[in-house]
Amino acid sequence: MSILIVGTVAFDAIETPFGKTDKIVGGAATYIGLSASFFSNNLNLVSVVGDDFPKQAIKILEQHNIDTKGLQIKEGEKTFFWSGKYHNDMNTRDTIETQLNVLETFDPIVPKEYQNSEFLMLGNLMPSVQKKVLDQMKTRPKLIVLDTMNFWMDHFLEDLKEALKEVDVLTINDEEARQLSGEYSLVKAAKKILETGPNYLVIKKGEHGALLFNKEEVFFAPALPLEDVFDPTGAGDCFAGGFIGYLEKTKDISFENMKRAVIHGSVMASFCVEKFGTERIKELTHQDVENRLQEFIDLVQFERSLTKS
Ligand code: AMP
Repeated sequence: MSILIVGTVAFDAIETPFGKTDKIVGGAATYIGLSASFFSNNLNLVSVVGDDFPKQAIKILEQHNIDTKGLQIKEGEKTFFWSGKYHNDMNTRDTIETQLNVLETFDPIVPKEYQNSEFLMLGNLMPSVQKKVLDQMKTRPKLIVLDTMNFWMDHFLEDLKEALKEVDVLTINDEEARQLSGEYSLVKAAKKILETGPNYLVIKKGEHGALLFNKEEVFFAPALPLEDVFDPTGAGDCFAGGFIGYLEKTKDISFENMKRAVIHGSVMASFCVEKFGTERIKELTHQDVENRLQEFIDLVQFERSLTKS
């Protein structure tokens, strides 16, 4: 079994109440891959960077079981750049700048060896590029997960709607779910969105956890209450990586198992926010992941009293 990951590999500049970074390595696919590598050792990447992207950063991806044959390096061009600033509550951020650079002309090529991947993670990227990747798959993957953001809803809504028709799971945050559906109630939003293609919807709510919907049921996973959230960048992507990584590892795409996958996604997101950029996720051990999973179990477990009050 393998996972094909598509998404940005990027430079980010981030400002939070805790500090500021110059250009550091980020991107949706970077976070997804690093996070999924704790569950799967068969990860394939399709993305693009410019020749300004450090070779060392590509090496780190490879050290995390990520095959980079599908990562195009464009001579004389610049890597995608995003900068964002978080507000005091850390749940909201402003995009200061998005420079598409290499993304502007990106034509994704899925190497032959990737075309039968059983799991497809369409990370945050131009919807038309996500669709182009989907169209190159030889056999329909067992599970297709798509993540996107308001930027693409603002500028490429029709392309996004086309891609959504073909996916199984959509992951977005609460603000984006409201924007996409035109509904304030997340329950109503989920109902509407599930009529447009996906059979499952994950709504990420930052420090307030995540909701998993299908047409009949809903499941809630909390976020781990943390003393300090240093930098939320990439939390959604680490969530997606943990979610799909766990599903690939367990080879079970039932709703019951997706509940466990949502918890594993939340575990990975909880690490991501503890340091700037990919710093925390890069240094994790399997034991760290195991211990944090236990913290999540302890957080939500309770005994129903047998005596009547
Ligand atoms: P997240 O915090 O999970 O939404 O992901 C943050 C990552 O998304 C950063 O590393 C950015 O490089 C990347 N990113 C920001 N804007 C976009 C965009 N419009 N398309 C794709 N990736 C983006």
